[in-house]
Amino acid sequence: MTGARIPRFAFTALVFVGVVRCAPTVRQIAAGVVTLTPATVEVGSPELIHVDAPATATLDGEWMGRKLEFFRASGGQGWLALAGVDVEAAAGPTTLRIEEKLADGTRGGVKREVSRTVEIFPAHYRTGLLTVAPRFVSPGPEELKEIEAEVALKDKVFAETAPERLWAGDFRAPVAAAATDSFGTRRMFNGKLASVHKGMDFRARMDTPVHASNSGVVVLAQKLYFEGNCVVIDHGLGLYTISMHLSRMDVHVGERVVKGQLVGLSGATGRVTGPHLHWAVRWGNAYLDPAKLLRMNLSAVR
Ligand SMILES: [Zn+2]
Repeated sequence: MTGARIPRFAFTALVFVGVVRCAPTVRQIAAGVVTLTPATVEVGSPELIHVDAPATATLDGEWMGRKLEFFRASGGQGWLALAGVDVEAAAGPTTLRIEEKLADGTRGGVKREVSRTVEIFPAHYRTGLLTVAPRFVSPGPEELKEIEAEVALKDKVFAETAPERLWAGDFRAPVAAAATDSFGTRRMFNGKLASVHKGMDFRARMDTPVHASNSGVVVLAQKLYFEGNCVVIDHGLGLYTISMHLSRMDVHVGERVVKGQLVGLSGATGRVTGPHLHWAVRWGNAYLDPAKLLRMNLSAVR
């Protein structure tokens, strides 16, 4: 944690009030023990959760039905988990549940529970209209079979994750191209199908090099119906980045990649209106705003 995350103080005060009012079952309220960055939690936002607990502690956490996976903060300053709020989550109060177990029996006990209310604020995403080839809006029976098989494949891919953190430091933009403010947009395809845009589009020209945003392991690299040539990198502890519509893939499943490594070239495969890079960030089954992940200061995570 760096000094840049000081605004968390305001948040601490806010949740402290919330805990007192809403959660009388908490055994011990320790304001400042659990802090979130960014301090204002919005729908679609990645969040770095910091717990001020000793190295000997074991932390168990859960937020919005997803398990939190903690790792030691560099420099011995407590524990961290990278988490976030799904783009389709409802705004309102949530409970962030964390239980700390102390192996050495210090603090006069074995367990300490720090459950607190985290208010989720709405984010203001836009609505867009797009026109794509009809087969992407009304797929035929053969195509539906293909799509179904791919859904099963993706479920399998995202059901597993490396048990340790493979990433370190800031996440880097995957391409040298202008980013669009497109995450979370409610979209109509050919005036028919509504969907939420769960990634960020970069205006990458055909065959622009696409790089690994951070280190990890490739868990999918193949052509899919909607995604086109798609590369998924597992960064460990449930965090993935996904690159779609590539014209070429330069990695294979099982390959370890380092931050900045070439994974392929951008293109226009799958459901597209033209060449671009669609880039998504997923934590568990939640889709997070890639632009916010890229803005996070993670330099202290080594
Ligand atoms: Zn897109």
